Amino acid sequence: MERRMVSFEEALSIILSKINPLESKETELLNCLDLVLQEDVISPIDIPPFNNSAMDGYAVRSEDIKRASFEKPVVLEVIEELWAGKKTKCKIGERKAVKIMTGAPIPEGADTVVKVEDTKKIVDRKEYVKIFVSQSPGENIRLAGENVKRGELILSKGRVLGPAEIGMAASLGLTKLKVIRKPKIAVIATGNELVKPGKKLKEFMIYESNLYALASLIKKYSGIPINMGIARDNLAKIKDKINHAIMKSDLILTSAGVSVGEYDFVREALISINGNIYFWQVAVKPGKPLVFGEVHGKPLFGLPGNPVSNITSFLLFVRPAILKMMGKKPENLPIVKAILEEEIKKKGGRRHFLRGIIRFDGDRAFVKTTGPQGSGILKSMVLANCLIVIPEDVKFIPHGEKIDCLLI
Ligand code: AMP
Ligand code: MG
Repeated sequence: MERRMVSFEEALSIILSKINPLESKETELLNCLDLVLQEDVISPIDIPPFNNSAMDGYAVRSEDIKRASFEKPVVLEVIEELWAGKKTKCKIGERKAVKIMTGAPIPEGADTVVKVEDTKKIVDRKEYVKIFVSQSPGENIRLAGENVKRGELILSKGRVLGPAEIGMAASLGLTKLKVIRKPKIAVIATGNELVKPGKKLKEFMIYESNLYALASLIKKYSGIPINMGIARDNLAKIKDKINHAIMKSDLILTSAGVSVGEYDFVREALISINGNIYFWQVAVKPGKPLVFGEVHGKPLFGLPGNPVSNITSFLLFVRPAILKMMGKKPENLPIVKAILEEEIKKKGGRRHFLRGIIRFDGDRAFVKTTGPQGSGILKSMVLANCLIVIPEDVKFIPHGEKIDCLLI
């Protein structure tokens, strides 16, 4: 059913009700960053796998150095040198020591490691070491399985994988994890006036920029952008691009042509290929014309063409949809309360999202707008680090008032 103007909340809830998480896929570890784990990871090994030294020093028997002190060091014979990765069958007997590096296996018989700083090497015909301290068993020894036990649950299903989780999986010897796959998101620009950057700018034309901003936003939220290029303002051309996008992607974004102008064909194109439109206007500014629908099972956002509206609509509505597709919580952007450093007037009716600059001073935050707020002024977005939220019914906010800011 097509609805015209919906509120911000209604729009979000319609979007989220129509979007489902994608299926999961065995994925190379290095491609798992920021993706959601779809299995429990159980350790197949102990970590560390064997007892090893936590220090560079000497592996000895604590018994032999019981009476050692700075004044009366104990002298031990050094029978071998072990570095990390060295295989050994060596055994330590009475009054013997093994020179050992961090990570090397503790030789049989030794029960403590004295760090280099507490020793002095003596070279005679054989090598000896003076030990200046006494130590109890276990000192500077990392025991097999002390960090991770074989069979232990290490990462649970639903976990978002960051660098530490990925490193952890590698430390278990794994090369792949089952994660929800990245969504493929097609982007289509529409407009007779658009010229691809790099080409000559002809009279009365402008450079196409929304595809670039959208592809970057898609990458930022871990999607795979599929650039479908520019369609002219022509019903058949736009239908054609959407039909192609249906085959190639999980989600389709179009830019421009969603308003009520004579050359705005996106809605018509959608209807004529048996798509559904759930709404096509939202009570927000910027970004009132926003189509959300579905075509052949693929959700579609018709984003407004003005570059600021384009980005803002993505952040407010497409971003949560992508999060849900990826199995994440579709949370809104993080909110901070800040003290307004100017006064703001607006008309009632729509929720405004002004481009703002927030600055933190001690435990307080201050915010001001970036200046002129026209939805064609992409520079306002470049200067901004937040969106200042002004509720629908508010018409005036005085200097010094605390207001909500969405961090971008
Ligand atoms: P429209 O939604 O087609 O009425 O477009 C609104 C405004 O956005 C117009 O000034 C367009 O020239 C501009 N615009 C549309 N598409 C793009 C684009 N891909 N890149 C930059 N500006 C655009
Ligand atoms: Mg247009």
